[in-house]
Amino acid sequence: MNKTLRLILGDQLNINHSWFQTVDDSVTYVMMEIRSETDYATHHIQKIMGLFSAMQNFAKELKEQNHQVIYFHLNDDNNLQSFDKNLQQLIEKEGFTNFEYQFPDEYRLDELLQDFCRTLTISTSVVDSEHFMSSRSELGDFFEGKKTFLMESFYHYMRKKHNVLMQGDKPLTRKWNYDGDNRKKLPAAHKPTPPLVFNNDVSEILTEIQKNNIKTIGNIDAKNFVWPTTRKQSLELLDFFATECLSLFGSYQDAMTPNEWSLYHSRISFSMNIKMISPLEVINRAIQEWENRPDEIEYNQLEGFVRQIIGWREYMRGIYWNKMPDYATMNFFNNENKLPDWFWTGKTKMNCLKDAINQSLNFAYAHHIQRLMVTGNFALLAGVHPDEVDAWYLGIYIDAIEWVEITNTRGMSQFADGGIVGTKPYVSSAAYIDKMSHYCGSCYYKKAIKTGDKACPFNSLYWNFYDKNEDELGKNPRIGMMYNVWRKMKPDDKAALLQQADYYLKNINDL
Ligand code: FAD
Ligand code: SF4
Repeated sequence: MNKTLRLILGDQLNINHSWFQTVDDSVTYVMMEIRSETDYATHHIQKIMGLFSAMQNFAKELKEQNHQVIYFHLNDDNNLQSFDKNLQQLIEKEGFTNFEYQFPDEYRLDELLQDFCRTLTISTSVVDSEHFMSSRSELGDFFEGKKTFLMESFYHYMRKKHNVLMQGDKPLTRKWNYDGDNRKKLPAAHKPTPPLVFNNDVSEILTEIQKNNIKTIGNIDAKNFVWPTTRKQSLELLDFFATECLSLFGSYQDAMTPNEWSLYHSRISFSMNIKMISPLEVINRAIQEWENRPDEIEYNQLEGFVRQIIGWREYMRGIYWNKMPDYATMNFFNNENKLPDWFWTGKTKMNCLKDAINQSLNFAYAHHIQRLMVTGNFALLAGVHPDEVDAWYLGIYIDAIEWVEITNTRGMSQFADGGIVGTKPYVSSAAYIDKMSHYCGSCYYKKAIKTGDKACPFNSLYWNFYDKNEDELGKNPRIGMMYNVWRKMKPDDKAALLQQADYYLKNINDL
């Protein structure tokens, strides 16, 4: 008799997958909480809790639909703590004749499962995860023969392909991109809508994790876990975004302010990345809200959101599959420094970094501009090795799965790919952070001071970065202007800036 074993990975919780549309007694699904997954990075405790809790809920849902499910809990006696060992023992013990899995999104697991299948004598097959709006190789095919991988062109292609916000083959409103309208600072008196959070009680899972001495980072209130752990909650979060946040999403997309951790962001990345919800239904819900309330939701708010999902998210995945495994070792600037210790504690006098890091430790979340222009910006200016930066981002965020973490971190944020993802490095002095936030006013450091006592570290590190990397960047047309300013600066001023930067780099743990 045919007996099929189907593996469901922790980020493959897609109940609408065609696998689950019919109940078949000859098919058994297997899901696992294992040490190889808890230990490949030092994860935030909320990331492990979120994944395990969502996996347990998913297994329960499958069982309620009468599917057969084997679930390895972390502390089960028969849990051999790795995919291949658990699968091997199951196949031998239960006499499975077929093994099937869905394409993993991580290169590491893709290799592991391919290797595993080669060791088997039973039949094996792999199917699509039915989540993304482009295939693994589609971006590579789209840019075949081209020197650059412009996100904007891929975004236009995706809009056309899926007929999203289009009128024939032209963009609705005749304009593709409204990014220029989406860069507002939050007005000082503006109080953002409080975020929708879920008071999930995940304390039992926490106890199981604590029995294992798994090394984690960050804080958790296990009786009031804020993240969605079911599809139903994910849909509620999406509804909340559409009704409460979308109308100001674009305007304040780049804004930062102390003690407000989510502003008008959707916080839907965790639900999407583990596939409790699909990108298509996310954008459709936003479009539907805009259609229902055209007087309240301006088009630029909607377009900005749609672009993040069918543009950036799909683009990053395409880059990942086109460039791995080489991408994981790229280090364009040959940076070698260590991440400051306070990245793990939040104990720094730099207000912007203190806020972004503490928020990340408390919620396993920071929004895009905090990741890019505060923590990422500082790490790049400080010449930190991209491996260190990647390890931090891969661990700390609840939505961090390598395909989207590494392309954003090593690529967009650290420019370690030499310009595959971005056309220039995202670095700034205090001026940009002050323009977009309310951090500088109450900071120990002074935003307008470049050298001397209490000079904002971003200022001297910024010029030091350009000076140090002139060979790599001097000919980049997008930053020529900065080099003109640098070259025209008085030698004494330049020397003072470099000396200040050197002092800060040598005392980085005390900043
Ligand atoms: P919103 O601001 O509400 O945006 C909506 C959705 O758009 C997001 O949920 C996300 O799915 C998508 N999106 C937006 N920007 C990007 C982007 N640059 N790349 C891919 N998708 C995007 N995103 C992750 O999902 N996982 C990561 O590990 C991750 N690491 C990052 C590391 C760095 C250094 C940087 C600069 C960005 C990173 N991002 C990552 C991208 C982005 O910051 C997050 O997707 C976003 O902050 C998630 O919050 P949100 O759901 O509230 O997003
Ligand atoms: Fe950050 Fe500098 Fe502003 Fe302080 S002064 S908040 S360190 S940018």
